[in-house]
Amino acid sequence: MLKIYNTLTKKTEEFKSITDRKVDLYTCGPTVYHYAHIGNLRTFVFEDILKRVLEYNNYQVNHVMNITDVGHLTDDADNGEDKMEKGSKREGKTAWEIAKFYTEAFQKNLKELNIESPTTWCKATDNIPEQIALVQTLIDKGFTYKTNDGIYFDTTKLSDYGKLANLANQELEAGARVDMGEKKNPHDFALWKFSNSNEQRQMEWEAFGKKGFPGWHIECSAMSSKYLGHHFDIHCGGIDLIPVHHTNEIAQSEAAFDEKPWVNYWMHGEFIVLKNDEKMSKSGDNSVTLDTITEKGLSPLAYRFFLLQTHYRKQLNFSWEALEATQSGLENLREKVLKLKNVDKKNDTTKLKAEFLEKINDDLNTPSALALVFDSLKNEEIDYETVLQFDKILGLELDKITKTQVEVPTDVQKLLDERKQARKNKNWSESDRLRDEIKALGYTVEDTSKGQKIT
Ligand code: AMP
Ligand code: ZN
Repeated sequence: MLKIYNTLTKKTEEFKSITDRKVDLYTCGPTVYHYAHIGNLRTFVFEDILKRVLEYNNYQVNHVMNITDVGHLTDDADNGEDKMEKGSKREGKTAWEIAKFYTEAFQKNLKELNIESPTTWCKATDNIPEQIALVQTLIDKGFTYKTNDGIYFDTTKLSDYGKLANLANQELEAGARVDMGEKKNPHDFALWKFSNSNEQRQMEWEAFGKKGFPGWHIECSAMSSKYLGHHFDIHCGGIDLIPVHHTNEIAQSEAAFDEKPWVNYWMHGEFIVLKNDEKMSKSGDNSVTLDTITEKGLSPLAYRFFLLQTHYRKQLNFSWEALEATQSGLENLREKVLKLKNVDKKNDTTKLKAEFLEKINDDLNTPSALALVFDSLKNEEIDYETVLQFDKILGLELDKITKTQVEVPTDVQKLLDERKQARKNKNWSESDRLRDEIKALGYTVEDTSKGQKIT
C-alpha cells in the first residue's frame, strides 16, 4: 500500500488512482529566465522519486511538466516585472532566446541528475489560446472583474478559497502586505494582465480588447486540463507554491471545471537552504547551480544521493562539506556494488525487497530505504540483481559503474604494485599467484600494452 502526504487534507493517505493502475501527474516546471539553482532541482528530484515509486508500484504514469516562459512576475502579488523580460534586459537577448537557452539548460540538468523526462513538456507561450479560453470561461461564469491593468479573479466568490494553505485561518488585511492596486480583495489575482502602455513588451497577445499576457497561474490550469483532463490524480511543486500559485490554480480550476476536488493529491517538497537559513535566488550572489557543483569536481549524482538522504518534507541545509562527504559515500557505494557484481552470487532477498517497498511506500522515505540498502550490504544480504532493482527508485546509475569509476581499494592496489614488480623481475609464477589473489578480492587484472588493467 502506497501512502503519501496530501497537503490538501494535511494527512498521510493511502494513494488511490482515479483510473486503475494509471496516474495522471502534473508538476509545475521552471521559470526559464536563468539557470535552475540546486533548490529548484531538489523539488524536481523529489518529483522524480515520486514518479519512480509510482512506477515501481506498477502504475503507468502520465506526467506533464510545463515550462513557464511568460507571465511570472518578480512579485507574486501580480506586480513587478515579467521575469522573462527582465532576463532579456540582463543578457541583451530576446525574451524568446532567453527562454530557449534556459529551457535547454534545465533539461540538461534533469539528464545529469538522472531525472526521467515527463511524458509531455508544454510551454506557456505555446498554449495562449487555451489560457484565453479558460479566462473567458471564468468571465462567463461571473468569477472575474476588470481593472485598468487586467482581468482579476474575485476570490470572495468561492467559499473555500485558500483551503490548501489554510488561508482562512490567517489574517491578511487589505493593503497590509499586498500592494492592492485596483484589486477588490487582497487575495484576488490576475488571470490576464494588460500590457503597460509605457513599456514595450516582447511577449504579448491581443485578447479581451487589448494587448496583454497571461497571469502566472492560469497556464498551469489550462495546460494540465488540456493534457490530463478536468480531474486528475497528483499535482506537485515546492512548498513556496502552496499559498499563492497552487491556491490560485485550485480556485480558478474548480470554478471553471465544476470539479471538487480538481486534483485529488497535492504534494510539496521542502526547501533546501544555505547556511543560516538563507534563501537561494536564481540570479543573486548565493545562487548554486549544478555547474557550480561540477566545477568543484563533484558529480550531479552525488547531489542526487545527498538529497535522497533527507526526507522530501524536511528542510535541508546545503554545505560543500556535506556534499563532499556524500561524494565519497557514493564512491564507497559503487565500490561495494561492483564487488557484488563480480561475485555474482544470488541471495534470497524476498524479505529485503518487501522491507524496501514498505519504506519507499511510506511517503517516499528514501533516507530509511537507503539505510536499509547500506545495512544489507554490510550484512551481505543483498545481491547485485536486488541492488539494480532498488536503483530503479534511487536512480544512482548503479548499473553503469565501470571499473574506472571505482577507486581500487588500498589492499588491491598493494597487490597490483607487487605484481608489477614481479613482472618486471620476470617472476611469472609470482605474477600469476598475485593475479589469483586479486581475483579472490573481486577484481580481474589484464595485461595490456599500457600495463595492468583492472576490471
Ligand atoms: P521556479 O523556476 O522559480 O518557477 O521554481 C521551480 C521550482 O523550484 C518550484 O517548484 C519551486 O517551488 C521550487 N523551489 C524554489 N526554491 C527552492 C528551494 N530552495 N528548495 C526547493 N525547491 C525550491
Ligand atoms: Zn504551476
